[in-house]
Amino acid sequence: MNNHSNHKPQTILVTGAAGFLGSHLCDHLLAEGHSILAVDNLSTGNLANLAHLAACENPTSAADFNDPRFRFLEHDICQLFDPGPVDYVFNLASPASPVDYTRLGIETLLVGSAGTINTLEIAKKYNAGYLHASTSECYGDPEVHPQVETYWGNVNPIGPRSVYDEAKRFSEAAVMAYHRYHAVDTHLVRIFNTYGPRLQANDGRVISNFMMQALRGEPLTIYGDGSQTRSFCFCTDLIEGIVRLSRSSEHLPVNIGNPIEWTILECAHEVLAVTGSKSEIVLKPLPQDDPTRRRPDITRARTLLGWEPTIPLRQGLERSLHYFQACTKSTQPVP
Ligand code: NAD
Ligand code: UDP
Repeated sequence: MNNHSNHKPQTILVTGAAGFLGSHLCDHLLAEGHSILAVDNLSTGNLANLAHLAACENPTSAADFNDPRFRFLEHDICQLFDPGPVDYVFNLASPASPVDYTRLGIETLLVGSAGTINTLEIAKKYNAGYLHASTSECYGDPEVHPQVETYWGNVNPIGPRSVYDEAKRFSEAAVMAYHRYHAVDTHLVRIFNTYGPRLQANDGRVISNFMMQALRGEPLTIYGDGSQTRSFCFCTDLIEGIVRLSRSSEHLPVNIGNPIEWTILECAHEVLAVTGSKSEIVLKPLPQDDPTRRRPDITRARTLLGWEPTIPLRQGLERSLHYFQACTKSTQPVP
């Protein structure tokens, strides 16, 4: 444990707090007794993810949050801001799904560069700990399998995914530089595909697409032949891992993800089993540079943090079912 452990209540800045993972992180930290300043520009996030922390049922602005332990600021972190003294910064702000970061390409480059530097400056100014949400996309279409943190990756720097991949790689360089040059107590988590309640129903990711399609009785869209692999981590496992990392003395990247590897076709069958859906499966073109395989080596997380995931895919999908059923009542189409 370092000096940013959870022994006494802290004031914590969470960027991307209205997103899928940010909102779960806020819940975890609030339950531990900390106070949170939640920042989000609502570009891909939604205040509905924080509605249970608001003073009214359908919050629409910061004014709807009046718990002194939970404040919300609608703000783009690419613009300089000063939150006042904070003990810790969790930087999760960034479009995250291929559909979102393709739509918001320049914004993704900016948040992964200016946004990361701005939040590192806050950590430096207030001598706060800092954790950045990096990604398995830093490995690109990996030639090393499973992916170990020492692998430098195989990333197309100019392809359609580069706005995300290179922004995240720049962020990692920036985080390491603030650690080396300014002694900021930084942490880098490389997050592998994570899912669960509050995953945006229409963000085009595989679990949200398949769950929504299955529940609506529409065909499940497999891109390519479905032989590409991913490894799916349930959100509560992921949050436990990154919180442990934030309190460790490890400054180098740590993979957090579930090492059980599934083909996308197998994943589709799991979704059909959990939903009881009779949807058929249709094949669609594979997007350019779609990684052919992905699976974390979590030896570092196991050894350094004593962490490993506890929730298998079937169980995680069952725990997500109610949320996606509620989402089907919305009229938004699956992309
Ligand atoms: P998400 O889209 O649900 O959440 C991201 C949040 O960041 C949104 O609320 C969005 O409005 C906010 N945001 C974006 N740009 C911003 C800006 N300029 N200023 C302020 N807020 C901004 O996505 P998520 O799945 O919760 O991802 C959270 C973080 O974890 C991201 O950094 C993502 O790259 C990383 N990550 C997620 C996964 C995953 O499988 N979910 C995998 C790898 C990495
Ligand atoms: N995918 C799919 N059908 C969909 C959505 C995604 O076959 O409706 C595939 C996608 O091509 C990729 C994998 O599922 O191979 C995971 O995609 P996702 O967008 O969830 O995240 P990625 O891991 O590619 O960032």
